[in-house]
Amino acid sequence: MRIILLGLVGAGKGTQAQMLAQHMGIAHVASGDLFRQHQEQGTELGLLVKQYMEKGDLVPDDVTIRMIMDRIEREDCRQGFILDGFPRTMEQATALDRALGDQGVDCVVNIRVSQEELVRRLRGRLICRQCQTPYHQTNLPPKVEGRCDKCGGELYQRADDKPDVVQRRIQVQQGLLAALLDLYSKQGKLAEVDGEREIEKVSEQLLEAVSQCSPV
Ligand SMILES: [Zn+2]
Repeated sequence: MRIILLGLVGAGKGTQAQMLAQHMGIAHVASGDLFRQHQEQGTELGLLVKQYMEKGDLVPDDVTIRMIMDRIEREDCRQGFILDGFPRTMEQATALDRALGDQGVDCVVNIRVSQEELVRRLRGRLICRQCQTPYHQTNLPPKVEGRCDKCGGELYQRADDKPDVVQRRIQVQQGLLAALLDLYSKQGKLAEVDGEREIEKVSEQLLEAVSQCSPV
């Protein structure tokens, strides 16, 4: 089973992908984790990624694609995989289809969350300056306001979580996502779940959606 999980940043993709992968006994391939691992291990791709990130540039599609392809060819992806954070662009989607051959992926699920809800989620994010533990003003507040439960460090809001930046980031992502939804919808592979419900409910819907598409 080859699954792509789509959704804007803040839609809860990572959490859902992890749970679904565990439930189905297939690999969870998160592009963010791959970036980090390659950098930690100092691989050729990792060094490339680092160069772009240090300059504040986006990692080019061909680098990301090589990283994902290298990952899904490994043994633990034989039974299937869930892609999380990839593809983000049409170029990546096309490269993936090409690499996977005729049938491409089996199933694409979009975790749908409204723009207002995403802004609310992202806007409330707080991070500990010392140990980087994440909190949320309303969903996961610290015991003492402004202080980390674990180390007592100061909590702050990242510059790119400020409301106007969040809004702009969501708009850019939404454009890219819309193109992908259109592509997979035309391929007859797209399902959607309501990402504004509780985590457990979203998981249930997701399982249901995935069970309705079988490997070709
Ligand atoms: Zn802390």
